[in-house]
Order: sequence, then C-alpha cells, then structure tokens
Amino acid sequence: METTLDRSVGLCAACAHVETIRSDRGTVFYLCKLSAGDSHFPKYPRLPVRSCAGYEECTMLRTSMPDLIEQPTIIAAAGTLPKRIAEYVGLVNSATEAVSIARMESPAGWREPGQTPEFDEYTVVLRGLLRVETKSGTIDMKAGQAIAAHRGEWVRYSTPEPGGAEYIAVCIPAFSPELVHREPS
Ligand code: SF4
Repeated sequence: METTLDRSVGLCAACAHVETIRSDRGTVFYLCKLSAGDSHFPKYPRLPVRSCAGYEECTMLRTSMPDLIEQPTIIAAAGTLPKRIAEYVGLVNSATEAVSIARMESPAGWREPGQTPEFDEYTVVLRGLLRVETKSGTIDMKAGQAIAAHRGEWVRYSTPEPGGAEYIAVCIPAFSPELVHREPS
C-alpha cells in the first residue's frame, strides 16, 4: 500500500484489500484483491469508490500519523434553496465510512425533503435557528443546542428564520445518498 494516501480515489485508498501498482510512468493503479475470489468486485474498480460492501480499513493505518484534512469538499445540497455543505470527514473528502462531519450554512427559508436515514445524526447549531420536524413533534434549536436523531426515525430539517443557520452535522455511519432515504422533493 502507498504510504501517502490519495483520498481522491475514495475507499480503496485506505482499504485492507487493495494492492497499489505503480507503472513505469508513475501512474498508480488500484487492484482489488477480493476480485480474485468474488466476481462482484472488479479487478480495477472504477474510481472514486464511494461505497463498497468489501471495504475494511487497513489496520496499519490506525497506528500511523493523524491525517491532516486540509480543506473540505463542498457538496451539492438537497432542498428548496442553495445550502452550503462543507464535508470535512466522510466518504467524499476523507474516504471515511464510519462517520461523516460536515459544516452547513443554510439560508432563511431553506427546507429539505423528509428523510428516514440509516445513520444516526448528531447536529450542533452554531448560529441561527434549525427546525427539526419529527413524527412526534417539532423542535426549534438555537445556537449552543444539539440534537441526536436516531437511524430509522423520520425527520425533516429546515431553517425558516431570517439569517438562516449554521450548524455541524455528524452522521454515524457516514452520510451517503444511498443511506439517507429522502422523500422526493
Ligand atoms: S474491497 Fe472495495 S474498497 Fe476495498 S479495494 Fe476492493 S473495491 Fe476497493
């Protein structure tokens, strides 16, 4: 395995089942070793790999230096108005499957479709008001407050007040479009 991870290739960068092959010209190829015994896994996966049933974090990485995350990836948001999602940790920016951490800046009037995710989501409000609708009621959260939404529960987030809101969202396991189960908007 390469000692310097190229997170842009996705999960394969940190997977225990990858073999990296460098060509004479310096190009790095990622060979999935599971492909030898299981045809579900391509020999050379199409990169980046964002979701993979065979992914296992390479244990050697757990004893290495901490990874500095230089900057987030800005992700396209769902909802009625443009919202800024800056993913610091997660499938896209750091090839982390276990958890995602993102900073959201949401304008006044933004509202997301309802969702029933397969992850637990912890949200800390930094500024403004975040409205969280659930099947049993509506909670308005202000700066300094946090909420834990459990996997399998229907929720809908919105920022109805002037000035919008800024908040940090932590998802366990990491957020992915496949796990969020959003309703059609
Ligand atoms: S198991 Fe998945 S993540 Fe791991 S090397 Fe193969 S394709 Fe990549």
